[in-house]
Amino acid sequence: MSETENLCDVIIFGGHGDLAFRKLMPALYHLTNDGYLNGQSRIITVARDNMTLEEHRGLVKKKLQEFVRPDYFDEEKFARFAAQMEVVTVDFRDTSTYEGLKALLDLHPDRDRVNYLSTSPDFFGTICKDLFEWNLITPQSRVVLEKPIGRDLQSSRAINEEVLKYFQESQIYRIDHYLGKDTVQNIMALRFSNRFFMPLWDANNIDHVQITVAESVGVEGRWGYYDDYGAMRDMIQNHLLQLLCLIAMEPPCSLDADSVRDEKVKVLRSLRPMTPADIEQKTVRAQYVQGSINGQPVPGYKEGVGVEESTTETFAALRVDIDNWRWNGVPFYIRSGKRMRQRNSEIVIQFKSIPHSIFANKGRCISSNKLVITLQPKESIKLKLMNKIPGLSEQMRLQQVDLELNAPMETSRKPEAYERLLLDVIRANPTLFMRLDEVEAAWKWADLILEGWAENIVPMKSYSAGSDGPSAAIALIERDGRSWHDES
Ligand code: NAP
Repeated sequence: MSETENLCDVIIFGGHGDLAFRKLMPALYHLTNDGYLNGQSRIITVARDNMTLEEHRGLVKKKLQEFVRPDYFDEEKFARFAAQMEVVTVDFRDTSTYEGLKALLDLHPDRDRVNYLSTSPDFFGTICKDLFEWNLITPQSRVVLEKPIGRDLQSSRAINEEVLKYFQESQIYRIDHYLGKDTVQNIMALRFSNRFFMPLWDANNIDHVQITVAESVGVEGRWGYYDDYGAMRDMIQNHLLQLLCLIAMEPPCSLDADSVRDEKVKVLRSLRPMTPADIEQKTVRAQYVQGSINGQPVPGYKEGVGVEESTTETFAALRVDIDNWRWNGVPFYIRSGKRMRQRNSEIVIQFKSIPHSIFANKGRCISSNKLVITLQPKESIKLKLMNKIPGLSEQMRLQQVDLELNAPMETSRKPEAYERLLLDVIRANPTLFMRLDEVEAAWKWADLILEGWAENIVPMKSYSAGSDGPSAAIALIERDGRSWHDES
């Protein structure tokens, strides 16, 4: 690394919050120790509580010991990381409290600045305004916005308009941490570097696509946030639609940020808007009730936090249609839920069956090819192909086998999504971040469904904690003569 490469000040607003400790600090610790973040860079925590630098270092150490795998944590590495830390006290509700931050940043006025807003979106506009008024926004400044950016198109616009008063669009990095996962980036590698997939990737050859993001955890202390959002706003509108875009988009003319994002936004604009009749037939929303996971009893969503009323969905399933040439007639079934039987995130590309079978049983033993891209719990890519069962049986017998496409790792440690994304912001590469028009197109489509749900066009279903979701979600896909992929 040259003397100035990846040299920047990373400023974490909300730096003593959950996300900062669980994801951002561990990611920066690894980036420092793996030599990706220049050793002269500073990691400036902006927090409300008044702590000395030594107290702050002690707290970060304790949190890293909790959130970094024990074999990756050692005192020497921590000392190197701790040397880069700074802490300042700011109250976002009090504009006059930015003095300490200004004094620190003014020590290196020309240095690249990554302002990471790990706070409630209610503060995004205020913080940007204060940075501007304290003269802390330079041409080398970038700002990272955590999700959720609003809870509908209107509120998302309001937040973005506020931030855009102080930062240019090119300086704004809207994070969707799913895009930082190696396997998610591999979707582009797989699609656009293998001729093999090129002629197969369309309505002539693909029967349908499934995207599932299932979590076995509940809201884990984030009820206050979650109950205002639910599965549609928290997962579908962002993570699942982003995955759908990567599967459905046309090849970009290059890997530069705008070429990739131009293609993604075209997909979002091609999503068929749902009419009230579509909402009734093609969407399912549900909330979990008590059940059990791994033999342990789990309370229902409302009982878990002791409330009597909540109309927030913890599960959503939809049939999505894309109105363009490539995907005409190919449904995308997407679903996401909390407190499901198992943690599992996967994309399944289901190819059409062969046109005619020459094998025994009229080919009933032939399963159609599938490409299964698993993101969680273990990242993997499998192509399911038919193969002969070795042996001398009179009639040729077939079985489905997995061709595993797992590339050997460059390093022994698989980087976390936040490492990739933070490094991209440090390098000023916005390819994996959402542009304003993408966010707006996604909200425009999702808002119609949310409005229909608010009008109770489709009733709220329930499902037991630890199950695969409500039976209505199974019926949603079975009505079309298909079923959810399940390998467990
Ligand atoms: P959090 O734990 O509540 O952290 C927010 C931080 O902001 C807290 O440390 C809080 O300080 C600070 N803060 C609140 N009011 C302040 C004020 N007036 N002045 C200065 N600081 C103030 O929330 P989080 O879970 O880290 O989430 C941060 C953002 O990331 C949110 O937008 C969230 O939706 C998003 N996000 C979080 C996760 C996750 O896993 N946590 C995942 C995806 C996205 P105190 O500690 O003093 O209260």
